[in-house]
Amino acid sequence: MAKQKRSDDWGFPRWRSYGKAGREAARVRLCDREGCNEPGDRPAPKAPNSPERWYFCEVHAAEYNKNWNYFAGLSPEEAAKRAAEEASGANGFRHSAHWKWAGPGDDSRSRDEIRALDALELETDADFKAVKVAYRRLAKAHHPDLKQGDVEAAKRFQQVQAAYDVLKAAEDRRLALGAND
Ligand SMILES: [Zn+2]
Repeated sequence: MAKQKRSDDWGFPRWRSYGKAGREAARVRLCDREGCNEPGDRPAPKAPNSPERWYFCEVHAAEYNKNWNYFAGLSPEEAAKRAAEEASGANGFRHSAHWKWAGPGDDSRSRDEIRALDALELETDADFKAVKVAYRRLAKAHHPDLKQGDVEAAKRFQQVQAAYDVLKAAEDRRLALGAND
């Protein structure tokens, strides 16, 4: 399978130029809600105690807060389940939209997973053990503590994190399904 070129608009977060074309155009981060092209300027926590944030437009920030009322009153298990659902995209929130342009998935792996494996420089048949090894290696290599002020490394670090999140969630789902058999 030919590797697709990684371009600047790797896709997540999505950015769009506002204002005049060319040099003066300001880059604006778009809303993280699936399918929304409004500027996303309202941060919302992805999970309790998580420093990670979504960025939504006003409408979707309100919707998000309303639907989630954020983990209030949830047990740790419930909160973890929600976080996993969110990571899987089950709630329609944009998590792995950055993998989206990939070709069709095979029977056992979703396109998101295949994209994630690609980001971790793995083949599509890599097992989770290989995922963990690759993740540790790449996260270390691009870690912001080591590469201070290196924007490319920071971007790559985020990709690696996001890819691992996708694969971890998939692995957890698979294990949960297996346990129910
Ligand atoms: Zn929106």
